[in-house]
Amino acid sequence: MTDYTPQPPAAGCRNAPIVKERGQREVFCGLTGIIWLHRKMQDAFFLVVGSRTCAHLLQSAAGVMIFAEPRFGTAILEEKDLAGLADANAELDREVDRLLARRPDIKQLFLVGSCPSEVIKLDLHRAAERLTERHAPHVRVMNYSGSGIETTFTEGEDACLATMVPTLPDTDERQLLLAGALPDVVEDQAVSLLSAMGIEPIRCLPAHRAAETPGVGANTVVALTQPFLNETAALLERRGAKILSAPFPFGEEGTTAWLWTIAQEFGVSPETFAKVTDAPRARARKAIAAARETLDGKSIFFFPDSQLEIPLARFLTRECGMKAVEVGAPFINKQIVGPDLDLLEEGPVIAEGQDVDLQLDRCHAARPDLTVCGLGLANPLEADGLSTKWAIELVFTPVHLYEQAGDLAGLFARPLRRREILSDLEGAA
Ligand code: SF4
Repeated sequence: MTDYTPQPPAAGCRNAPIVKERGQREVFCGLTGIIWLHRKMQDAFFLVVGSRTCAHLLQSAAGVMIFAEPRFGTAILEEKDLAGLADANAELDREVDRLLARRPDIKQLFLVGSCPSEVIKLDLHRAAERLTERHAPHVRVMNYSGSGIETTFTEGEDACLATMVPTLPDTDERQLLLAGALPDVVEDQAVSLLSAMGIEPIRCLPAHRAAETPGVGANTVVALTQPFLNETAALLERRGAKILSAPFPFGEEGTTAWLWTIAQEFGVSPETFAKVTDAPRARARKAIAAARETLDGKSIFFFPDSQLEIPLARFLTRECGMKAVEVGAPFINKQIVGPDLDLLEEGPVIAEGQDVDLQLDRCHAARPDLTVCGLGLANPLEADGLSTKWAIELVFTPVHLYEQAGDLAGLFARPLRRREILSDLEGAA
């Protein structure tokens, strides 16, 4: 029988020693997730309860996007709120009333906590309950924290989906639930591949609209599409769902392994699997080969940022011929990234958490060909002659599944090509 399970190396990284670091971090906060979540959930609104700094972060992370009807905003906590001189709850209620009166299209409202709202201990959970009562049944108000203290930016999506899990209706239906906010084009590809194998029904969390919100129960099988959904996965499991354990769908091999894990769960035959995946697998391999010419033999160093580091290191080493020097991740939950660690060949330093100065020292000593890091570290590293890739681009760009595998490899090849061109020009001058 054909088996699509990838061949692991003689020794993988699951049991490799992990360097645990607890020092200064260089990451964006969880508010950043609003940028991709608001596009996904078309009748939701994200109201950040925060300061002008939070408003500026959102504005600059969102770029210069003009929306006729924006789906996020900031309720600014002024100095009198922060000093406890005003009743922030009453002001918040007034803001929400005004917003919902103006925007009857909003069906889900997320109150997003920030550092300032946490400092003044504004109880947004209570506020969400109070406002849900007030605006039911038209609007459900939920809350989560996007605060930057001790977090990393993809935790915002995890916190958002996790706050939704307890509100999902019960269902006994046998169903596949794809958890994680994928760009629509990628989600459509996933649903189309899995439907062609005969798997149904397939639901998505988050759904496009409140009315399409999936149920959950003991017959729900969850395939995570993102490796940073630690809390969401734990809560879905608590609701009785089964969380599949698979490598993440990055690259041809990762996508095949992810789909094959789902296919086996739903009793899809290898023949059907081959019929559905042979053509896109070949396309993905061909697309990756083009970028592999640049990436092969190059070294890569990951600073902990997006939580995609381990699956990406697996993809880049196994499918693009790169050599991982260090793979840093903000958190390492082996229940979720274990299958990717199994496939990542022993050798790189595996680091969890961050002590940015120590890690910069290791990076400078290793002088990797490519460093994946946050925006704040990229410029100084580039100035020091190192090529960098911004980790945040990996969540703003469609990178999952077969049709995006070439683009994903290309994202890493581009900075290397740019540096080659620049050094050729310098040499010619
Ligand atoms: S780190 Fe805190 S204060 Fe800064 S933008 Fe994020 S939530 Fe707001």
